[in-house]
Amino acid sequence: MLVDSHCHLDFPELAADIDAVLAAMKANGVTHALCVSVTLEDFPKVRALAERHPQLYASVGVHPDYPDVPEVTQEELERLSAHPRIVAIGETGLDYFRIKEDCEWQRERFRRHIRAARACGKPLIVHTREAAADTLAIMREEGADRAGGVMHCFTETWEVARAAMDLGFHISFSGIVTFKNARALKDVAQRVPLERMLVETDSPYLAPVPFRGKTNQPALVKHVAEEIARLRGVSVEEVARATSGNFFRLFQVPEAERAHANQGISQ
Ligand SMILES: [Zn+2]
Ligand SMILES: [Zn+2]
Repeated sequence: MLVDSHCHLDFPELAADIDAVLAAMKANGVTHALCVSVTLEDFPKVRALAERHPQLYASVGVHPDYPDVPEVTQEELERLSAHPRIVAIGETGLDYFRIKEDCEWQRERFRRHIRAARACGKPLIVHTREAAADTLAIMREEGADRAGGVMHCFTETWEVARAAMDLGFHISFSGIVTFKNARALKDVAQRVPLERMLVETDSPYLAPVPFRGKTNQPALVKHVAEEIARLRGVSVEEVARATSGNFFRLFQVPEAERAHANQGISQ
């Protein structure tokens, strides 16, 4: 039993054949997946996936890689998150790799997401790329530890992981950890305690080895878990049990819905 803590099933690569995506999840023991919002325009599609399919959850947020989309207010985030299938705020954060010009708007957007998460009591999904110091500074300034959450698709150093964990955050590993050249990240995956770890695909991107370069999907999260198990010298079942339990606790999934998936019921 595995959970994909971060995917984009509303993106055209996957939305076109959602039934096949869900069938592959089931065939590979992936019981749940969290569909992550990147813009307010696309949020209704993300929410609809979670309303339609009991194995899917959704988040609400505006990604830092989108400069020219309608801005979101703290109040709007709070209002849209008041829904039983919306379990997180994000993805949000800072990305200085994709956006090179002045990023004050990114930082302001990030702050609003943190304030909303604190107000509504739901955890944050944080995206950070080439911006770790600013990301952590804003998390501290805004009291992100009061909301908690996850550093998704983690590619930073052990020091950044430790600082995020000190704020109560989880660390989520994607298919990048399976890449041959990801030596430093493999070291981090050996050191992060299992009780703070999540696994994800970030699909349709970042397919793990041996599917690198292809369209990714939640079923392939098992290759991420297998690589982490190999690195740590534990069974994949142990990684699966820990990361799924962490997911359910962090995103406050009701006990009845965890059992529901255990029985393999879908639709
Ligand atoms: Zn991201
Ligand atoms: Zn994402």
